[in-house]
Amino acid sequence: DSYLQLDKLTLRYGDTVAVRDLDLAIAKGELVALLGPSGCGKTTTMRAIAGLLKPASGRIGLDGADITRVSANKRAVGLVFQSYALFPHLTVYENVAFGLRLKGISGADLDARVGAGLKSVGLTSFAGRKPAELSGGQQQRVALARSMVMEPKVLLLDEPLSNLDARLRLEMRAELQRVQKETGVTMIFVTHDQVEALALADRIVVMLNGGIEQIGTPEEIYNNP
Ligand code: ADP
Ligand code: ADP
Repeated sequence: DSYLQLDKLTLRYGDTVAVRDLDLAIAKGELVALLGPSGCGKTTTMRAIAGLLKPASGRIGLDGADITRVSANKRAVGLVFQSYALFPHLTVYENVAFGLRLKGISGADLDARVGAGLKSVGLTSFAGRKPAELSGGQQQRVALARSMVMEPKVLLLDEPLSNLDARLRLEMRAELQRVQKETGVTMIFVTHDQVEALALADRIVVMLNGGIEQIGTPEEIYNNP
């Protein structure tokens, strides 16, 4: 029983076919890695799931509904990019509150949800700071909280750890896994780092030239490279 389902998805940029006939089924609560070399179609696939790129053909289903033609802001799909683009003039609290306010949430409800979001990434005491006063890893955790408080059905992370130094990367790996297990959110993250995929994912989708070359658990991928 799949929660997110891609059926024969073909994605183009003009005449360039970036992804061809992709079939993929992801269960609720899974942490999936899209792994593969630069240019194989990982980001393009994520953009289609997010609704930022219209499929040339094929279908995207989420939680029992066909969302192929649903606009990006109505999909309940969260996105965290490698450049996490926090609003520099807003506090950590206001950065996390931003999307909730747009949805008309305010007062005690807003406070509770922002509070829970900040707590889940261990940044409660940083609520009043500006992004520039935070480390790169802390800023990334704010970006994660900002997406999580919107309660997305699927959270997409594009190379979420690639801008961090080695120590922070390990820290954030553990953080991502913890938040995912705690909230049960379905997560897909893009990486070109095999070690990262093996360490983090429940399942790894290996892409090559716009298609899936291999798919399996970290054990299966590790034993059949
Ligand atoms: P990635 O980290 O996914 O490999 P790239 O560095 O290849 O990303 O691409 C960065 C940006 O450039 C993206 O917005 C992508 O859509 C765009 N891009 C990538 N390849 C091309 C191309 N051949 N023509 C135009 N834009 C491209
Ligand atoms: P990955 O994320 O795996 O590095 P992408 O999804 O960014 O790969 O790119 C897949 C293919 O689509 C590549 O051949 C890339 O050059 C091309 N591509 C990506 N973005 C664009 C774009 N904006 N315009 C044209 N071609 C693009």
